[in-house]
Amino acid sequence: GNFALSNAEEERIFVSIRVRPLNERERARHDVSDWECVSTNTIKFKNNGHAEQRPLSMDTYTFDRVFGEKCSTKQVYEEGIKDVALSVVRGVNSSIFAYGQTSSGKTHTMTGITDYACCSSIASERLTSLVTFQHKDREFVVKFSSMEIYNEAVRDLLNAGSTSLRILDDPEKGTVVEKLTEETLTDRGQLQRLLSICAAERTTEETAMNEASSRSHQIIRLTVESNPRDYADVARSGALFASVNFVDLAGSERAAQTLSAGTRLREGSHINRSLLSLGTVIRKLSKGRNEHVPYRDSKLTRILQNSLGGNARTAIICTISPARSQSEQSRNTLLFAGCAK
Ligand code: ADP
Ligand code: MG
Repeated sequence: GNFALSNAEEERIFVSIRVRPLNERERARHDVSDWECVSTNTIKFKNNGHAEQRPLSMDTYTFDRVFGEKCSTKQVYEEGIKDVALSVVRGVNSSIFAYGQTSSGKTHTMTGITDYACCSSIASERLTSLVTFQHKDREFVVKFSSMEIYNEAVRDLLNAGSTSLRILDDPEKGTVVEKLTEETLTDRGQLQRLLSICAAERTTEETAMNEASSRSHQIIRLTVESNPRDYADVARSGALFASVNFVDLAGSERAAQTLSAGTRLREGSHINRSLLSLGTVIRKLSKGRNEHVPYRDSKLTRILQNSLGGNARTAIICTISPARSQSEQSRNTLLFAGCAK
């Protein structure tokens, strides 16, 4: 029926771009916007400074979707994320990434998207929210967990005192994060409390460890289990179990430098290990099958292994500042996005 796992034709990664408005600081120093969203999937670099050096075609980039500075997070969710996120109710794993330099809008976008995925009302699918998912034939349980990867150590954001969590290989479940706290979601208020606990936990680190949040990855994971309400249906359509991962990545600026300078990964720049190996994994997946995908190279890719590739669905939202002063970083982000397509 409706909830059968659709036989997966290989899904491409859905790649979108979001340009935030210029901020106060950028305006104060008379920075100007260098990017123009010319259609719903095309973005163009306007700066005339380099016009002679580059053919025009190089300055126009096409993606699955481009969201300009006037687009709301709700629109980003509806048009760039929703299909991928809600596949979780059909038993399909997914990962949704925010990628971009620090202060380009990753956290702003991801926080909104997570909230919409959990709480939006989508009448046509009888979905009042993931928290209180309504369906006439099935019963749903949604669990929330959140972790941070910093210097290749995994922290439980719902159990701040805990030591670094271990990642285990379970023969049935695949990759499992040992002792990760899971809360069963009951209502929207509880969800908001959990989100703010995790955000506060990450911010505390920020002051203590010199902008750790720009160097750490945060994963918010919702696992959804559903069972037929009618016992007689159990044999026909059994339990479905899947997770959706909302991943607020570390700032891409260091990784971009490392990549463009061709330097090797240095001691103390562990943060890049997860970001760089995610880049490698995504490039391999977007090229197709028959290649070894090095999931085991970093904590991030190991944790997400079950939710990347195979049947799993992936969306990446790449955030950029429109400011001229940031255009080199923004180009790097668009180049990464281009590799993911
Ligand atoms: P990042 O997580 O990439 O470092 P943030 O999400 O913290 O960046 O965004 C930096 C600042 O810009 C924040 O104050 C945020 O509220 C603001 N901001 C980001 N994106 C938008 C947007 N699309 N519209 C309005 N303000 C935004
Ligand atoms: Mg952030």
